[in-house]
Amino acid sequence: MSSSSFLPSRSTAEWQALDASHYIHPFTDHAALGRKGTRVISRAEGVYLYDSDGRQILDGMSGLWCVNLGYGRRELADAAYRQLLELPYYNSFFQVAHPPAIELSRLLAEVTPPQFKHVFFTGSGSEANDTVVRSVRRYWELMGQPQRTVIISRTNAYHGSTMAGASLGGMAPMHAQGGLPIPGIVHIRQPYWYAEGGDLSPEEFGRVAARALEEKILEIGPERIAAFIGEPIQGAGGVIIPPATYWPEIQKIVDRFGILLIADEVICGFGRTGEWFGSQYFGIKPDLMPIAKGMSSGYLPIGGVMIADRVAEVLTEKGGEFAHGFTYSGHPAACAVACATINILRNEGIVERVRDDIGPYLQGRWRELADHPLVGEARMVGMIGALELTADKARRQRFAEQGEVGTLCRDACISNGLVMRAVRDTMIVAPPLVMTRAHVDELIDKARKALDATLQEGRKLGKI
Ligand SMILES: *Cc1c(COP(=O)(O)O)cnc(C)c1O
Repeated sequence: MSSSSFLPSRSTAEWQALDASHYIHPFTDHAALGRKGTRVISRAEGVYLYDSDGRQILDGMSGLWCVNLGYGRRELADAAYRQLLELPYYNSFFQVAHPPAIELSRLLAEVTPPQFKHVFFTGSGSEANDTVVRSVRRYWELMGQPQRTVIISRTNAYHGSTMAGASLGGMAPMHAQGGLPIPGIVHIRQPYWYAEGGDLSPEEFGRVAARALEEKILEIGPERIAAFIGEPIQGAGGVIIPPATYWPEIQKIVDRFGILLIADEVICGFGRTGEWFGSQYFGIKPDLMPIAKGMSSGYLPIGGVMIADRVAEVLTEKGGEFAHGFTYSGHPAACAVACATINILRNEGIVERVRDDIGPYLQGRWRELADHPLVGEARMVGMIGALELTADKARRQRFAEQGEVGTLCRDACISNGLVMRAVRDTMIVAPPLVMTRAHVDELIDKARKALDATLQEGRKLGKI
């Protein structure tokens, strides 16, 4: 495999040794990594990754839920290259701007739901959620209700890794490190029927989980609540697709109490569900919408917050300067790539294709995996799905030690040339939206082989 001309050519063992000496990875147990050695991915094309030994791996996760257009799209690389020569950097602070950021804000106003005409740019999804906390609290201050500071989120939500993002998130291991959540952020239960629904039907459980919002509002005092935030489908938490009754009930509750609704679209946005945004799939009307990941198909880092008219008018017309912004808010090259991404999604009808063609095909084949003895549920919307691994299909029973069988399965996938991620014992996929039917068939074949291997290995080790 040829490597980039500006990087030295090194063997896998050399990269691994340097990695172990110098590189602290995000979300990584370094003791475990040291025993195994890091996997070095050196190039990619279409829906395939190639590691430093030249092994081909089908990418079932679009990188980290972002490379929705697949790898090697020349138009995206060209957009970045041309913009870097034209104007590699300028800011948007203090009454200046540049064409790529202005053009991207116009395009976003066109492709997002009608209540959105304004965007605030950030460098990532985490920064977008920090911006959400500041915007929401600023909004209520300007509305003359400064006591409305509390934001309600959910257990097992993921909203990023900064102080505010991790606080909004409901990941216990993240809260346990560094004194989180920050004050004024509280969590209610998640709409995870498979794990927590008990004997209720999904529809009944959806209503029960939504009513937890009303209970929390009444417990804290409605006059203190600023907003509710949720991912339309929880991604990192394990692709938790709420029952159909959940979001309509949530919408009713936020409307009744007059609090803001925030849909974190960082994963669900830009076609993942077969609609442009996950909130459209579920028929809800958010006031703020953090976006990132698929916004640039992951080619350059960029995020933002879409702000609905009723909030944007207050933020921009009252109260002078909003004292908030990032050096890379609206970075020119990242904006150029995001413009090119949106143009490709539109010109190639990719969102419609996910809704009407490749999405339903993948969903049908994915559900076939439910007949495997290890699989308790196979769920999917658009091109984002999960398999629940279980010791007892009928009773939806968990394994004695959570996460061990999931890890076996993840490793079996990699051995079979497939990236599928494990969240505890839930296997998740979110493949590039540009997959063909042949790619889908390959994904399902490899997943089934990995499930067979997991069953065999798990029994041998006494885990199943
Ligand atoms: C990934 C993610 C984020 C954080 O985005 P980063 O770009 O990693 O900071 C926020 N919200 C959701 C729903 C995500 O999946």
